[in-house]
Amino acid sequence: MMTLTYEEICKACNGSIISYGKTETAKGVSTDTRAIEKDMLFVPLVGERFDGHTFIKEAQKRGASGALVEGGKAIDTKEYEDFYLIQVKDTPTALSNLSKYFRDKFKIPFIGVTGSTGKTSTKDMIASVLSSKFSVLKTIGNFNNHIGLPLTLFNLEEHHQFAVLEMGMSALGEISNLVKIVKPEIGVITNIGMSHIEHLGSKANIMKAKMEITEYMNEGNYLLVNGDDEYLQNLKGIDTPYEKVFFGLSKDNDFYPIEVNQDNGYNITIAFEGENYIFNLPQYGIHNVYNGLAAIWIGKHYGVSPSEIQKAFNDYSPTKMRMEIIEINNYRIINDAYNANPDSMKAAIDVVSNLKGGRRIAVLGNMLEMGKFSEEGHRIVGSYLAKSKANMLITVGKDAAWIAKEVIKGNSNIDTYIVNSNKEAYEKLSALIQADDIILIKGSRGMQMEEIITFLQERS
Ligand code: ATP
Ligand code: MG
Repeated sequence: MMTLTYEEICKACNGSIISYGKTETAKGVSTDTRAIEKDMLFVPLVGERFDGHTFIKEAQKRGASGALVEGGKAIDTKEYEDFYLIQVKDTPTALSNLSKYFRDKFKIPFIGVTGSTGKTSTKDMIASVLSSKFSVLKTIGNFNNHIGLPLTLFNLEEHHQFAVLEMGMSALGEISNLVKIVKPEIGVITNIGMSHIEHLGSKANIMKAKMEITEYMNEGNYLLVNGDDEYLQNLKGIDTPYEKVFFGLSKDNDFYPIEVNQDNGYNITIAFEGENYIFNLPQYGIHNVYNGLAAIWIGKHYGVSPSEIQKAFNDYSPTKMRMEIIEINNYRIINDAYNANPDSMKAAIDVVSNLKGGRRIAVLGNMLEMGKFSEEGHRIVGSYLAKSKANMLITVGKDAAWIAKEVIKGNSNIDTYIVNSNKEAYEKLSALIQADDIILIKGSRGMQMEEIITFLQERS
C-alpha cells in the first residue's frame, strides 16, 4: 500500500499545507469515505450530485490522517485539529500527479492496454499469464480513467514485478494524460472500433487518440497491435523509435497461430522458440484468440514457459457478464450484457453462430452513446445478423429496433420481435424457449439486460 509523508504528498501535488496533522504519513488513498481505513489520505472529488468536500469531517472520523482540498472550497481549518489539509488547484489533477510521483518509485515494467473493445479482457489475460510466474498488479475491474488508474497505482507494493493497466478514453488527449503517469514499456492496442465515436467524430480520430499510448515510448519499448484491424494495419511499414509487433490471425502478421481449431473454446498452435505448442483458450469468441495472442506474446517476451501460460489460461475466469455461459434447465445463455458497441455485437453474433446446439436466439438491446452514428451502427449489426446463423431476434429499446428493421429488410428467415423493456423481452422469451436453445443477451450497460437472466432464473 502507498505510504508517503505529507511533505512528499504536498510537493507531488504542487499544493500547500493549510493544516498540520499528528501522523506524518498517509497509508493508502481513497476518494470514498466508506472505504477509508486508518491513516489514509482522503481525496474529495466534485461530482454531479455530490461534492466530496462535504465528507472531509467524516473521513477524519473514520481515521484518515489528512485530505486534499480544492482551492476555493470554504474549509474552516480551525475545525480540523491534528489533521493534514493540503490545498491544491483541483483534486483530480492532484490525484494524477500524486500517482505519477508514486509510480516513479517502481522500476518494473508497466504494460498499458487500450483499444475500443476488449481492454478489460486483454488486460486480465495478460495479467493472468504473467501471474503464473511473477507478482503482478493489475487494474481492478474497469478502473481505466483519470481517477481509476491513479487509484490502481496506489496499490503498488514492493513485491510487484509487473503492472498491467487498462487505459480508457472518450476524447482526444485522455490517453495522453494517462501515459504521462504510466510510461508503459509495452503498449497494447486491441482494435479501433466505433465506441466513443460520438465525441471523436471519425475512426481516424479514434486511431489518433489510441496512438497517444506511444507518446512516451522509445527504443526498447514495444507497441503490440492487432494487425488484422483495418486501421491498425496501416502502421505496418511505418518507422518508429519503438518496436512494433503485429498479432492476428492473418499470416502476414509477426505473431499468428499456425492453426486454429474450435473445441471447448479454441486450440491455437503457436511456434514458440522453434517448437510448435498448442494452447487451449477455454473461451468463446474468436476475439478471445486475439486477446490470447497478445497475452502469449507478452508472456513469451518475459520468459513465461508454454506450460505456465497454459496453466494461466486454464485458471482464467472472465469478468462477469463478458461471454459468461449460464446453463438454466436445458438451455444455455451467453451473458454478454456488460456492454455493447457494433464491433462487440458482431463478435458475439459470431460466437453464437459457431456454437453447436439448438436454435440460436439473439436478444439485443440499445447500443448507447453513439450520437448521430446510432442508426448506422444499429443497422450495421442488423445486416450482419441477417447473414448469420441466428434463428430468432428480440430487440429491446427504441434504437435496437433499427437492428430488427435491417433484419426484416434483409428478408432473412430470422423470426424477429421488437419490444421496449427487459420485462417484455423476458415474457417473449419465456413463451418461446425450447430445449437446447442458445440465447445471447447483449446491450449497453445502461440497458441492464442481465435483468432478463434474473427473470429467467427466478422462473426456473
Ligand atoms: P470498456 O470500454 O467498457 O472498458 P473493454 O474495452 O474493457 O470495454 P471488455 O470489457 O474486455 O472491453 O469487453 C467488452 C465486450 O467486447 C465483451 O462483450 C467481449 O465479449 C467483447 N470483446 C472482448 N475482446 C474483444 C476483442 N478483442 N474484439 C472485439 N470484441 C471483444
Ligand atoms: Mg474495460
